[in-house]
Amino acid sequence: MKIHFLGTCAGTEPMQGRHHSSFIIETNGAFYQFDAGESCAYTAFSTMGLDLLKTKALFISHPHIDHTGGLPHWIFTMTKLCWVRKLQERSFNVSVAVPELRLWECASELGTDMRRSNMAEYIVYDVNEVHDGTVYQDNNIKVEALHNLHMGVPADGIWRSFSYRIFCEGKTIVFSGDIKKLEDIATFLADGCDLFLCETGHNHPASIAEQLKAYPAPGMVGYIHNGRAFLNNYEESKARTQEFLGERFFIAEDAETREF
Ligand SMILES: [Zn+2]
Ligand SMILES: [Zn+2]
Repeated sequence: MKIHFLGTCAGTEPMQGRHHSSFIIETNGAFYQFDAGESCAYTAFSTMGLDLLKTKALFISHPHIDHTGGLPHWIFTMTKLCWVRKLQERSFNVSVAVPELRLWECASELGTDMRRSNMAEYIVYDVNEVHDGTVYQDNNIKVEALHNLHMGVPADGIWRSFSYRIFCEGKTIVFSGDIKKLEDIATFLADGCDLFLCETGHNHPASIAEQLKAYPAPGMVGYIHNGRAFLNNYEESKARTQEFLGERFFIAEDAETREF
């Protein structure tokens, strides 16, 4: 499988050279996208030449803007690509998992020019709220969600921030989303994984690497959603992380593709 990193920075503050979080897992000719930070559709299609109409499913970890800001433009781009290719209305389905349905409704309003656009509805979006457990499964991939404490304990009892575990091509990937502490996803990590895609916006990579000693070692750790505290001290942060993980980690860059 390939992983295409569309955006690799946290939302703490605007940064030069990095866009907000988003990546695509490509397997068997199909795309599965996780989060939709600013410019994700532009980076995928215009910068990396990725055909977004291969998308089978989109998963949003939580409603913060650094994970959702690119959603209206993503919806717009998907529609335009269908229009350019002269596809029929309701040509295909895309599954969407969002922590709250209002998020998709807001993004759709913007992505369709406040629904005043006379654009045909080419794609049938199958939109569902995320819950703990299996949220998606097809012949290529299975995705499980686990709520985390990044947005605190909700007063209404409805969790809105999730981490994901992805089973694909016989491998297991854990995607942290944004987390409060590594302990939030202890149950995922305790089972071991081949790849751990971990945010560093709220947790320093060296601290994550040290805490990982409490769990079966992931085959590889990929740092995404990178924060200022880490990026401002890039070489030092990298060296400290190396003490724990050796060469078993990488720091993802925008518009980068990696094979697993
Ligand atoms: Zn974030
Ligand atoms: Zn967040």
